[in-house]
Amino acid sequence: MKITIDGPAASGKSTLGAALAKQLGYLYFDTGVMYRAVTLAVFQHKIDIHDEAAVTALAQSIRIEVTPPHTLDGRQYTVWLDGQDVTWNLRGPEIDANVSIPSAYATVRHAMVAQQRRIAERGNVVMVGRDIGTVVLPDADIKIYLDASVEERAQRRHSELLAREQPSDYAEVLAKMQQRDLLDSSRAASPLRPAPDAIIIDSTNKPVGIVLAELEHIIADRRLDKAALKRVTP
Ligand code: C5P
Repeated sequence: MKITIDGPAASGKSTLGAALAKQLGYLYFDTGVMYRAVTLAVFQHKIDIHDEAAVTALAQSIRIEVTPPHTLDGRQYTVWLDGQDVTWNLRGPEIDANVSIPSAYATVRHAMVAQQRRIAERGNVVMVGRDIGTVVLPDADIKIYLDASVEERAQRRHSELLAREQPSDYAEVLAKMQQRDLLDSSRAASPLRPAPDAIIIDSTNKPVGIVLAELEHIIADRRLDKAALKRVTP
């Protein structure tokens, strides 16, 4: 089965996606890390982020790998950029503030989507992002679109930063999140939006455990439907 979870920043996609994948024994893949790694590479190589051709050439040349965590410091996985562990570098405010720029380039997306589809071919997967149900895996078995109010999402991100002992100002986090939402949903190439056949879940004011239970229900129902269909059309 292919399960896709799309939605805006801090809607709970990674927490829920990882929990679900663990429970089902599926591969979990967070596609946001790929766009974050491209953005980090742009800074490392001192390329002009507004130069689409140069950013695309870079995106096509770098090697991004995601492996199970190689050290226990709260990470869900380790991200390697050309052999260097960049897992936490991808979470800095500079990346948050700029990641939507390379993500809007159709040519960069083309390179990333090809890799994402290859990863999904490995078998059962929970893949998380912005365009997974609409573009990357349009034939996925279950598509979830996870949403929450921007105020709550900003509060979650603010708390996460404080928990990691990083300086954070709620009003600033909120303004930046609104800006990123706008860029991600108004771009021409694969904008953030629910697939027509996605199940939309609003997680505002809902604890993670409740949303996870809702997801488990949806998946159990869908599996029963599939099994019944198989019996009818062997
Ligand atoms: O999910 P995360 O916040 O890590 O994503 C970072 C950024 O990467 C998003 O704001 C978006 O610009 C881009 N992204 C995307 N398509 C995806 C996943 C992420 O454009 N499938």
